[in-house]
Amino acid sequence: MDKDLLATPLFHNRGVPREELPSTDDTLGWIDLLLTHPAISTQYILEVADGVWECRCGNTSEFEGFDTCDEFGIVVEPVLGPWDGSLHLCGRCNRIINGDTLEVLAYASQEVAEVNEDYR
Ligand SMILES: [Zn+2]
Repeated sequence: MDKDLLATPLFHNRGVPREELPSTDDTLGWIDLLLTHPAISTQYILEVADGVWECRCGNTSEFEGFDTCDEFGIVVEPVLGPWDGSLHLCGRCNRIINGDTLEVLAYASQEVAEVNEDYR
């Protein structure tokens, strides 16, 4: 195999010297990338101790806690049927979290948040 091929950087710039690359568009390009490829900006919450979660808003299982919810973020009883066994809602910021992967899936809508306020 050609040794030069092996040495080619993974993210080479096709031979354009760095100083000739447009630098002003870098930030914009990154934001565009995030907007068009939301999957790469996937967020996760943290498991700070065994069974203790910390949401990205700072809420933890021991503080305002996490409620079991459905795919819309509506708080449901923690029984299989109404609950799918994995979804949780942050009690502070309304992020909907997959409890199996700790992935942030979405935010509950304002309407749902109001329904939950009545429930609590
Ligand atoms: Zn939160």
